[in-house]
Amino acid sequence: MSKNMTLSRRSFVKMGIQVPFVATAAGMLAACGDGEEIALCADPNSLSFGENSIRQANNYTEVSEEPENNCLNCAFFTPEPAGPDGVVPNCGDCSIFEGLASKNGYCDSWSTKDTGQG
Ligand code: SF4
Repeated sequence: MSKNMTLSRRSFVKMGIQVPFVATAAGMLAACGDGEEIALCADPNSLSFGENSIRQANNYTEVSEEPENNCLNCAFFTPEPAGPDGVVPNCGDCSIFEGLASKNGYCDSWSTKDTGQG
């Protein structure tokens, strides 16, 4: 097998993983439909293949389908300090992903801050 063929196959596999993730994120934001623009904290287009892969493996979403369980109340989330208006910025750090996550987000690794149990 030639090197070009290997690279081509890798690129194909990479696209096969990333395209559904990007489409899901775009569809999810479009589904909000209230005219409010939501900035992605973890824009799949600006993340590495590894960063996208771990988010996808954990089913990360920028908007939790379970409002009572979100990144803001997850043990692995460190929010940015609230601004003068008292509002916590949308993006904070997730120690699982070692990168940004949305305070309204969610993934399968969610764990409550209270007990450390999910
Ligand atoms: S582990 Fe999941 S739910 Fe918790 S902060 Fe990170 S992305 Fe959010």
